Amino acid sequence: MTMDDTSHRIHNPAAPDEIVAEVTLTAPAGLPGLVANARRAQKEWAGVPGAQRAARLNAFLDDVEAACEEIATSITLEQGKPLAEARGEVMKSVSEGRAMAGHAMLAGTMAVASARPFVRNMIVRRPRGVITAITPWNFPILTPMRKIAPAIAYGNSIVLKPSEFTPTAAVILDRLARAHFPENLLTVVFGGAELGQALSTADIDGITFTGSVGVGRHILAAAAASNLAEVSLELGGKNAVVVNDFEDAGPALEAIVGAAMQCAGQRCTAISRVIVNDEIAEDFVAALSARCAAMIVGDGRSPTTQIGAITTAAQFSKIAGLVELGIKEGAVCTAGGGRAAVADRPHGRFYAPTVLDRVTPDMRIAGEEVFGPVLSVLRYRNFDEAIEIANAPRFGLTSALFSNRNDLINRFVDEVRSGMIHINQGTVPDSHMPFGGIGDSGFGSYSVGPSAVSFYTTEHSVYNQYG
Ligand code: ADP
Repeated sequence: MTMDDTSHRIHNPAAPDEIVAEVTLTAPAGLPGLVANARRAQKEWAGVPGAQRAARLNAFLDDVEAACEEIATSITLEQGKPLAEARGEVMKSVSEGRAMAGHAMLAGTMAVASARPFVRNMIVRRPRGVITAITPWNFPILTPMRKIAPAIAYGNSIVLKPSEFTPTAAVILDRLARAHFPENLLTVVFGGAELGQALSTADIDGITFTGSVGVGRHILAAAAASNLAEVSLELGGKNAVVVNDFEDAGPALEAIVGAAMQCAGQRCTAISRVIVNDEIAEDFVAALSARCAAMIVGDGRSPTTQIGAITTAAQFSKIAGLVELGIKEGAVCTAGGGRAAVADRPHGRFYAPTVLDRVTPDMRIAGEEVFGPVLSVLRYRNFDEAIEIANAPRFGLTSALFSNRNDLINRFVDEVRSGMIHINQGTVPDSHMPFGGIGDSGFGSYSVGPSAVSFYTTEHSVYNQYG
């Protein structure tokens, strides 16, 4: 990626000499005008009945689905993930958007008992107003759509700042939206941290952010000091899978490798720690390492690629540094452990799928988010210890347990520090279930499904005396 004053070029992480897109940067000084336009568009849109808003959102999603190949290609070129995964991301964004269109039609008025005669009490929900969305580079369409669809369905306008590393999916969404919604209902702006800061303090009503904990704190502080906008933060994770027992290791291995290595591990919901029962650890780690070592790393455009490039140079250095430190601190590398050589892409940012065994809770790699194709294995002797290790980081996004013991399953559901909990499966969320985390992983309402209503609408208590 290179930026000058007005334009911004994006380089392919699999072949960094290749420039794959260019966008015009938005001047922060222009934001007040854009927000004022978004406010006018929101007033018009709020007057459209909810069922019609949902129908128009669904028609827009039809167009997104039809543009799947164009969007997926842009994602692979800018973010690096295999094309098949990028197509899956587009389709997931459509299915989440459709689920939101359905939910929004149910967000109506609620009648409530009155304390006085001849008074009808109601709780009424209204669109919140102008929403700002700031998104990261790992899911260039899924994360923006997770914010655009509910904003529009509930009657808001939205100003989106996609990541400076992966803007093209948002460019395409902007183009497609024009045929379905009032002008300025969706506004896409381009820039980095400075523009993000300016957006956080603009005259807006809600900020939804997905990204790092550090930037999330900045945004919360910026909103507190300026507009007191409602804030929803989706931050990092240090997700654990606890492997206690199984009849057959196959499904557990497949789920763990999938959840860890998809998007080259650059997912907030990636499994990053395997906390394994000492009694089964030896064989399980050997099988896990063999599976990871056999994965094909390469350019996401090649149909055989299973693990694509690391999107940014800074992220690549972070992954490499954490793995090196882990080994220095005593972890045993049983797969990968460094850059992966890809013959036809000698300059690509490829990191080999890596397994570090014998990690202990005091090591940095045990607590810090890696955001790369790296699994740390920690061993335990009893389930209390497993829960203690799982809950050690302040993150609390998603988690999984492999066990057939009902007592342990119920303990896990009650005790694991995690917004999302999976039993005997990986960490893939459904398109209509609340998505979010606790502790350092999130703040404010969850997104997707029934939770989104509290962020995208405001609540009003109405007392109507009629006699
Ligand atoms: P990631 O490393 O996943 O991109 P970041 O938290 O660094 O996560 O960035 C996520 C988004 O936040 C990007 O769109 C980025 O431009 C934006 N951003 C970075 N710094 C700030 C800031 N201080 N205020 C608002 N937005 C910011």
